[in-house]
Amino acid sequence: MCKECWELIAKADDTEFLDSLELTHAERTVLEELYKQGENRIVEILELQGKALHDAILELSEELLFDIGELGKVLLSVQSGDLFTVQFEQAVYDAFTPLYHLAGESELTVLNTDKTWSTKNKAASRFALKLKKLVPDMNGTSKDVMTRAFQKAIKEGKTPSERALLVREISASAAKGDAGPFNMERAITVSRTMSTAAANGGKMEGWKQSEVVTGKKWRSSKGDRTRKTHRKANGQVQPLDKPFLVGKKGKESKLMFPGDPAGRAEEIIRCRCTMQSVME
Ligand SMILES: [Zn+2]
Repeated sequence: MCKECWELIAKADDTEFLDSLELTHAERTVLEELYKQGENRIVEILELQGKALHDAILELSEELLFDIGELGKVLLSVQSGDLFTVQFEQAVYDAFTPLYHLAGESELTVLNTDKTWSTKNKAASRFALKLKKLVPDMNGTSKDVMTRAFQKAIKEGKTPSERALLVREISASAAKGDAGPFNMERAITVSRTMSTAAANGGKMEGWKQSEVVTGKKWRSSKGDRTRKTHRKANGQVQPLDKPFLVGKKGKESKLMFPGDPAGRAEEIIRCRCTMQSVME
């Protein structure tokens, strides 16, 4: 899909999602700004990662260029090397922790005026750790995408130098963000997944602290891009401290809230679902 199309979809998703948080105009403005900054930072990091990968590939000898094991090693060092992991985790933390607090605080102030939200609460730090753990998972997925592309190129090349050339072409186009894991689409996937996790996670913590809310109800996002399993979860009610069961029969993920980073990637990546409070 074209870059503009992704941007349009992301914009529509964000609008729908932010609407569901029912923020004041001022809160919303701050949040949109932070969100944009976070997404830009992720795009920047992905660009740097793509360039680093391409530089490393250019340094490989021709024989190693079609050794998939060797290419895998290069990919791994770029994706899970300390430099990018730390930058990525920091970007995710800076962009999405404010969303967690904002969602939590908005819920708490409406539900119980006697309570005050503290940005230093333990649940928030635990949540930040959970978010960071999503980064290696997402990097793993993008490594697989790249490995498959290289494998395909190696198969297609008839002579060794043709194979090497095809591998170089793929890494060059990935570095430019044209295709592969370092493009706009990936940045949007990351920020969409993280924002769902942060907003719902914050909301739930706000409900807990309110001591008024006893349960939660899954609200699946409308539209045909919603997973079947999430449409099925629509309306599911659980006590506040019990997980939702979401997924194919017998293989359900236990999600404390939509986007819960503890869940399996297939149930959380790009999820746009929200939840409603239940009071007895
Ligand atoms: Zn969903």
